[in-house]
Amino acid sequence: MALAAIHDDRIDSMNPATGEILGSAPVMDAEQIVRIVRQARDDAIPWAKLSLNARSAHLLKIRGAIVDRADELARLVAAETGKPLPDAIFEVFACCTLLTYAAKAGPRALRRRRISTKPLVLKRAWVTYEPYGVIGMIAPWNFPVGIPAQVIPSALAAGNTVVFKPSELTPLSGVLLGEIINSAGRRLIHVVTGDGRSGEALVRAGVDKLEFTGSPATARRILAAAAETLAQVVLELGGKDPMIVAEGADVAKAARAAVGASFTNSGQFCMAVERAFVTPNAYDRFVEHAVAAAKGLRQGTDSQSNLGSMTRPQQIDVIERRLADAVAKGARILTGGRRRTELGENFFEPTVVVDVDPRMELMREETFGPVLSVMRVDSVDEAVRLANDTDYGLNASVFSPNAAEARQIARRLVAGGVNINDAVMGSGIPALPFGGEKSSGFGRLQGEEGLREFSRIKTITESRFPRGPSLAAAMFTGKRPKPEALLRMMRLMYGSGARERLKALKRRKR
Ligand code: NAD
Repeated sequence: MALAAIHDDRIDSMNPATGEILGSAPVMDAEQIVRIVRQARDDAIPWAKLSLNARSAHLLKIRGAIVDRADELARLVAAETGKPLPDAIFEVFACCTLLTYAAKAGPRALRRRRISTKPLVLKRAWVTYEPYGVIGMIAPWNFPVGIPAQVIPSALAAGNTVVFKPSELTPLSGVLLGEIINSAGRRLIHVVTGDGRSGEALVRAGVDKLEFTGSPATARRILAAAAETLAQVVLELGGKDPMIVAEGADVAKAARAAVGASFTNSGQFCMAVERAFVTPNAYDRFVEHAVAAAKGLRQGTDSQSNLGSMTRPQQIDVIERRLADAVAKGARILTGGRRRTELGENFFEPTVVVDVDPRMELMREETFGPVLSVMRVDSVDEAVRLANDTDYGLNASVFSPNAAEARQIARRLVAGGVNINDAVMGSGIPALPFGGEKSSGFGRLQGEEGLREFSRIKTITESRFPRGPSLAAAMFTGKRPKPEALLRMMRLMYGSGARERLKALKRRKR
C-alpha cells in the first residue's frame, strides 16, 4: 500500500490501517508560505503586546477549545496514524497538560529577572525575555498533536505566533489543531501543508526561529539551509534509547516497562527502548518476561488494542532489513518478526530479538518500529559503555534496586533524560526540559528551558544614579588609572586567601 498520495499540488491523506482516503490538503509553494509568514508576523504584534498573565489566560481558553473538540481531534489523529484511539486521546491530553503548564509557569519563567551587578555596584540590571516574532515548526507524523504540543504552548506563552508544518502523512490533524487553537478568539497559528518542498520553503521564508522535530537526515538539510541566513534552530531528532537492568532489579517490572516503551505507537517513538542491556543474573528472566508481555499485547485499531498499524508503510521495509541483517549475523527472533497481513497491510508484530551485538544495524541505527533487542552484558560498566556507543542520546532508563547505583549510572549516560526504575515517563512531566544530545538534537522543549527557548534573551542595565558619571567615560577616556593601582585592586578582590588580600591593603596604606 502506498503512503498518503503526494501530488504536485495536493496530498491525499490516508488511513494506514484501512487504506481509506481521509481527505486532502494543498502542497503550499514558497510564495504562499512567505505570505503566510508575513501574516503571522502581523498577528504577532498585538499578541506580543499582551501581558504575560493575559497570554496565560488565553492559553487556558485554547485549552478549553481543545477539550471541547478532543474527541473529534483524537479520532482524526487515530485515523491518520493507524493508532488506537486511547493513544490519540493521550496526545490531546498531553496538549492540555502542556498548555496548563505554559499558562502557569510562563509568567514566572518569562518575567524580567533582576540580576546582581557586582562588581559594577553603581548599576542595576535585568534579564528580559522577549518574543522572537514568528516561530516556524516542522513536525513528523508519529504524534501529530503530541509533538506540536511540546512547542506551541511555550512559543505562544513567550509572545510569538507559530507557523506549523505538519508531516505530509498527517496534514489533516495539523490543520484541525490549528483551527481549534485559533477558534479561541485569536489567530496565533498558521498551518502550512505540504511535503519536504513546503518544509524547505518554510525554512527559507524568514521565520525568526525554527523548531524541527524529525530525522537527523532532514535536520542536516535544514541546518545547511539555515547556515545561509544564520537562522536559529532547535532540533529534536531520533533516538536509540538504551535500558540498563542491573543485578537485583525487579526484572518483571523492567521487562514490562521495556515492552511498553518499545511497542507503544508500534515503536514509532523517538524514545522507544530499542536496546536493553541486561546483567547475567537478570537476563534469562528478563527475556522470558519480555517475550510473554510482547505476546500478550493486542494489536489492532479498536480501543482495547495496545498497538495499531505502522503509520509509514515504508518503515516496515526498514524493520525487515534490520532484522534480516541481525539474523544473518547470529541474532535470534524469539517472538514476532513478521507482518500481520490478516489485520491489514501495514501491521507488524511486536518483536523481541536476542543474541544481538553492536555490529548489527539493529543495535546502531534507529529502527522506529516494534522491535526490542536484548543483549546480555557482563557488568553495569559494560552496559554503560554499550549504551553510550551510539550516535544518539535522547533518553535512557535504568533498573536497579540500589538508588545510589542507579543515580550513578544515570550520571554516566549521555542522554537528555534518564528514567530510574521506569521508562520514558520523564517526558510526561511538563516542568522537565525535554531534548537530546549528539545526533538526537539540541535545544530544549518543555520546562522553563523550553519556555525560554522561544524568547530572545536581552540584558538591560541602568545607573542607580541617573545623574551620576558614565562609567564607560570614566574608565576609557581622560586620565587612565595607574597600573599598580589596578593590580592592587585585583589582588584585593581576587587574591587567593586573606593574607594575599591583606598585603594589597597594606601596600595601599603605605
Ligand atoms: P522526516 O525528517 O522525514 O520529516 C519530518 C518533517 O520534515 C516533515 O514534516 C517533512 O515534510 C519535513 N521535511 C522533509 N524534508 C524537508 C526539508 N528538506 N526541509 C524542511 N522540512 C523537510 O521525519 P519523519 O519521518 O516525519 O519522522 C520520523 C523521525 O522523527 C524519526 O527519526 C524520529 O526519531 C524523529 N522524532 C523525534 C522526536 C523527538 O522529540 N526527538 C519525536 C518524534 C519523532
